[in-house]
Amino acid sequence: MSGDAALRYGLHESLGLYVPCILITVDVEDWFQVENLRSHFPRSIWDSCELRLEGSMDKLLEIFSHHGVKATFFVLGWIARRLPHLVNEIVSQGHEIASHGYGHELCTNLSMDALRKDLYRSKTLLEDISGQQVYGYRAPSFTITQSLVRLLAEQAYHYDSSFNSFSLHGRYGKLDNGWTEEKPGLLKNNRGLYELPVSNFNFLGKVIPWGGGGYFRLFPLSLFNAGVKRILDRCGVFLFYCHPWEFDPEQPRVRGLRPDLGFRHYINIEKNLEKLSSFLTAFSCCSFLNCSSFILEHVYPWPLAK
Ligand SMILES: [Zn+2]
Repeated sequence: MSGDAALRYGLHESLGLYVPCILITVDVEDWFQVENLRSHFPRSIWDSCELRLEGSMDKLLEIFSHHGVKATFFVLGWIARRLPHLVNEIVSQGHEIASHGYGHELCTNLSMDALRKDLYRSKTLLEDISGQQVYGYRAPSFTITQSLVRLLAEQAYHYDSSFNSFSLHGRYGKLDNGWTEEKPGLLKNNRGLYELPVSNFNFLGKVIPWGGGGYFRLFPLSLFNAGVKRILDRCGVFLFYCHPWEFDPEQPRVRGLRPDLGFRHYINIEKNLEKLSSFLTAFSCCSFLNCSSFILEHVYPWPLAK
């Protein structure tokens, strides 16, 4: 760990200890709601699809409990409506509930009014079920837009985690100029909204996707871990994302998918749970915080205390 990073993220300076942070985030959606499968599963048939989420969530919650991980779960409103007990189970295990929108509509496809309604509907539903305030939001497929950022501040969301700097993915959105770096891995805009970008690896001026999802499944673990160590050395924080369906090798295999979409969805899914456990073991010296706790520990005065 470099001296600079230690200075920036001296979480336990009073104890003379330095602990880098890993933020584990989970987008809680089921296998048929993934954008890569959209052509086979339009929203109109979602109600007839097999819900398989609970089995994968049980596995994830068990692994997190075993490794002392406190994670942030960005829950889809559509899921929370059908499985409210799942929201309560996540909360009861000490994790943070945040919003993944209601219907998994890409923000880039929604009008301002439709996006406003989607954000409001998901936030109020999750708060009603959990009894807790929802502070965070992640856009489906990282489709951050300027309209989204404006609406999040308007609706009393305190942070967003929808920015993925890998520019070669066709759906990912971009940040506008109105952000300043509070700390490495944490931005703030002039509306008081925080941004926790997905972590990526910068090499020779290029951004290589490194934050999780299909990239975590694709890369050999030793390579992935080496990249995470480099990111932690530079930033002191690593933000990881995954989905419950990535830990469900028995999910129905969709035939007739475009080869690249099928590759992205299924690559190494059968070994992924074990891989995640090995990843958490390899970084057991880190502090596994949820997103709100991370901001709380690094920003003072804490805006959520208002
Ligand atoms: Zn999603």
